[in-house]
Amino acid sequence: MKTDAEISQEARLEPISKIAAKLNIPSSAQSAYGNQIAKISNQVPDQETKQKLVLVTATNPTKAGEGKSTVLIGLGDALTKLGQRTAIAIREPSMGPVFGMKGGAAGGGYSQIEPMIEINLNFTGDLHAITEAHNTLAALIDNSIFHGNPLNLDPDNIVWNRVEDVNDRGLRRIQLQRGKLREQQPANSSFSITAASEIMAILCLAANLADLKHRLGQILIGYNQKQEPVLVSDLGVQDALTIILKDALQPNLVQTLAGTPAIVHGGPFANIAMGCNSILATKLGLKTADYTLTEAGFGADLGGQKFMDLVTPQLQKTPDAVVVVASVRSLKLNGNQAESTLDQENMPALRQGVANLDRHVHAMEAYGKPVIVAINQFSSDTDAELALLEQHLQKRHVPHALTTTFQNGGAGALELGKLVQKACDQTADFHRTYQPQDSLELKLTKIAQRSYGARKVTFSESAHSQLIDIKQRGWDKLPVCISKTQYSLTDDPQKMGAPTGFEIHITKLEPKLGAGFIVAQAGKIITMPGLPTMPAASNMKITDQGEISGLF
Ligand code: ADP
Repeated sequence: MKTDAEISQEARLEPISKIAAKLNIPSSAQSAYGNQIAKISNQVPDQETKQKLVLVTATNPTKAGEGKSTVLIGLGDALTKLGQRTAIAIREPSMGPVFGMKGGAAGGGYSQIEPMIEINLNFTGDLHAITEAHNTLAALIDNSIFHGNPLNLDPDNIVWNRVEDVNDRGLRRIQLQRGKLREQQPANSSFSITAASEIMAILCLAANLADLKHRLGQILIGYNQKQEPVLVSDLGVQDALTIILKDALQPNLVQTLAGTPAIVHGGPFANIAMGCNSILATKLGLKTADYTLTEAGFGADLGGQKFMDLVTPQLQKTPDAVVVVASVRSLKLNGNQAESTLDQENMPALRQGVANLDRHVHAMEAYGKPVIVAINQFSSDTDAELALLEQHLQKRHVPHALTTTFQNGGAGALELGKLVQKACDQTADFHRTYQPQDSLELKLTKIAQRSYGARKVTFSESAHSQLIDIKQRGWDKLPVCISKTQYSLTDDPQKMGAPTGFEIHITKLEPKLGAGFIVAQAGKIITMPGLPTMPAASNMKITDQGEISGLF
């Protein structure tokens, strides 16, 4: 089979105005970035659509690959083939990992969104704008302290760090000179990757420009000498930050290889942030298409849970169906098969590994909406392995379909498409994990028990002090966004499969008042990734004519 890059290079793409026309988006609402990308303003009139929303998530990711985006994009093309007006809403890639680990975030094989090189690199500059807004705020805070500190900020209690979209482990811990050199000792600070910025979450949750500005104004930047919270609105720079982000707030329209419209917007990682594309992207889909497919990053325990409990209240819509993507290879890894032997049939490992899928399916079923499993077929899967997985799902009465979207595009997900249509026609009540009035401990406990299968939640000494502080300040009624390893249902990346009886260790609680949630760190989490021994960047080439190779 051809490589992703070869398939992409041979693609015959339609002009973006034609793709927009499929969703009846008027030309007055389109700002074209070349022939194949357009930003879409909020001037899109409401249309009569079925408003069906499908959430695509997966089991815990492994090195073997699950293929969430590949299945989601193929499912979008399948629904188009089945005669449904369909839109895909998906996150925009972060550039840091592109130069670290080989592989893009625009699907694979014959299920890709295009133009994949542009989408994976600078695209329309949204991540740049978020980076600049975040760092401009950091510079404005330090500048205020430098010039007489009118807000009486405590330079040692600033909670706003800096970000960049590069995997740069050397910047994980930095020292800053905040005040005048003679007066202040250097303060400790850090860099995170842009995808972890609160501004990324805000952009993804904002309903419109006014809401974006309001949320930016609510960002907690630190505390003053009396230990009172200081917000961006106290600094008075929410308008300036909104100006930096005004274009980035508009969703980006592209297309799949088969010409299905794809709205690519916002890119928080699901382990350290929200893990879902912007609300505006999903809303644009719902407004213009009968079926909108949206992705929740990593597994159902991370992006899936956050979509259901954090995003749907803002979206004012819950999914009509949930698709959990699984592959034989990744389930075998969850069943303790060694990565080097994954190409060999291993029924005992698969039998053990399906427990991971069961846990995720069970957690998604708890929300009350129909759940379907998409088995993403890899060439190394044997007939016996696929039969075992299908029989297992049959026994559990879980609707499922074998998909070959990587190999066949939309034609490889027709059965899944039909199951999704059927599921979307059912009526089902939605049961969220926690209620807004629940205490922070109860919210965390409910998530840990229902989504991870944990026994209980514990707090480190410092997290416990933060919990008391958050309660005293009246912030504990906010929703919670758990930051946890994606590799395990527990907070220990080594524990694969479906562990039981474990505790979730909360090590840090951070109020993100602009996003409107408390980030709870579970276990050890790094918000600035590093590069591997052999970064993908070492294999990249560009000719004098601008032809790129080695990117994917
Ligand atoms: P996720 O969204 O879960 O991170 P992707 O859809 O981005 O996963 O897929 C990860 C990688 O695996 C991509 O490089 C993709 O091309 C590849 N891939 C996905 N499905 C298959 C498959 N069935 N066979 C071979 N490679 C696949």
